[in-house]
Amino acid sequence: MSFASNTTLVVFERDLRVADQKALSEAAKAGPVIAAYIMDAPLKASLGGAQKWWLHQSLNSLDASLAEYGGGLTLLSGNDRAVTLIAFCKANGISNVDWTARNDIFATNSPRNTDSALTAKLEQANIKATIHHGQLLHEPASIRTGSGGPFRVYTPFWRVMEQRLEQFKAEPAPEKITFAQTSGSEDLSSWGLSPTKPDWSGTLAAVWQPGETGAHNNLAAFLEGGLTGYDENRNRPDMAGTSRLSPHLAFGEISPYQVIEAALKRRGKVPAGDLETFLKEIVWREFSYHLIHQKPGLATENFNISFDRFPWASDDKALDAWQKGMTGYPIVDAGMRELYQTGWMHNRVRMIVASFLTKHLLLDWRAGERWFWDTLVDADPASNASGWQWVSGSGADASPYFRIFNPILQAEKFDPKGDYVRKYVPELAKMRAPFIHKPWEAPDMELISAGVRIGSTYPAPIIDHAKGRQRALDAYKMLKESA
Ligand code: FAD
Repeated sequence: MSFASNTTLVVFERDLRVADQKALSEAAKAGPVIAAYIMDAPLKASLGGAQKWWLHQSLNSLDASLAEYGGGLTLLSGNDRAVTLIAFCKANGISNVDWTARNDIFATNSPRNTDSALTAKLEQANIKATIHHGQLLHEPASIRTGSGGPFRVYTPFWRVMEQRLEQFKAEPAPEKITFAQTSGSEDLSSWGLSPTKPDWSGTLAAVWQPGETGAHNNLAAFLEGGLTGYDENRNRPDMAGTSRLSPHLAFGEISPYQVIEAALKRRGKVPAGDLETFLKEIVWREFSYHLIHQKPGLATENFNISFDRFPWASDDKALDAWQKGMTGYPIVDAGMRELYQTGWMHNRVRMIVASFLTKHLLLDWRAGERWFWDTLVDADPASNASGWQWVSGSGADASPYFRIFNPILQAEKFDPKGDYVRKYVPELAKMRAPFIHKPWEAPDMELISAGVRIGSTYPAPIIDHAKGRQRALDAYKMLKESA
């Protein structure tokens, strides 16, 4: 089969949407379109379990959106992306391929053909590659400090981005797309993305709606009901105080331009401080990409190389207790169980559990990064790696290592009635605040009436807070002294 010379193959990856999708809209303006998703072997190997589930749903959703234009998504797989692409183009006489710049490709934990390597291979095969922008507000190499280098500190980076926010305009979905008819799409179910034996995805499906519609529903609900008060409420895991846009942004079901533009339209209708804090969070995502662009090994290598000498402990039992939410610290356990059940964890609690792993348990941040990568629906190479390095103290512009979150005080402050803990740690559901956050200190009568037996119905603390804190400080002191 051979298509008209103005036919374009649009390859989707982390841009699973039809609106504000420049690769798609530009191709649709030029002529007939074939929309494809390629599952190459390195991509499949790099996806965590929760991401696979999300991707399956999101591809179905995109296919349905394209069907409304009279087309659909062609699914292709192969060991090597370039080989698969070139074979498909040659078989169908296609000489134009467009896609959105893939900024996560820099990450060494998802090693795939980079955009420039892919472009060179296509050009060798006489296929024109065109790369559009849209995964990020900025292209990582395009923002520089006054002295011409990359940013390592967030606040000055924000100041530059802040000046540009008004320029960010999103495009509507194309009015019309003419699809070239293709055959040979693989069957999504044959890709094995959705879990079957056992199918553990029910709890994810109960809380998420992957796809463009779900993304815009979350954005609209947040702008209407969550933006006012965001500056304070975003720290409260017991409230629905954040947008829950992260998996949608990670898969590109909504673009950051769309989020910024919609948020700025609320100016004057919501308190300026709440709006600014939300915009700053979106820009943290940008900053994470700015960092991973500087250090592609961000998920596996300390940004601050002095941490290469840090004396991490080795304790599989402690890691297992942390992963399973059985540390005996209710706020940590609630977070880890929220993650396992819903594929997501509140940002404040991510910081608490990450601090607990790296400081109280003295376990290497990379073990936490890997667990999050496998279990988060929003797992993102840049934000996950930079989040872990920020908490552990090894990152750029990181929280200082000696700042150790106290899991009890954090819980009392941000989950004052204990409702968050009650939701995810049902064995403590009958305990009252403040004891729900430190059940080992509760009087016997309190424990008896709540049906809690420490060490039996709920674990005793895996480590004493004061001891864990001191051990972490000593390790940090050793690092400093050995410098
Ligand atoms: P909102 O508060 O509504 O924020 C809006 C958007 O801003 C988010 O969707 C996200 O895209 C961005 N954002 C907010 N905070 C951050 C941040 N600190 N860093 C980068 N972007 C941010 N975020 C991910 O998207 N993927 C990850 O894999 C990830 N791993 C993390 C690991 C650790 C240890 C920590 C501390 C944070 C991590 N984050 C990650 C950042 C943050 O926790 C989530 O983005 C946030 O909880 C998502 O919820 P939301 O969409 O309701 O956020």
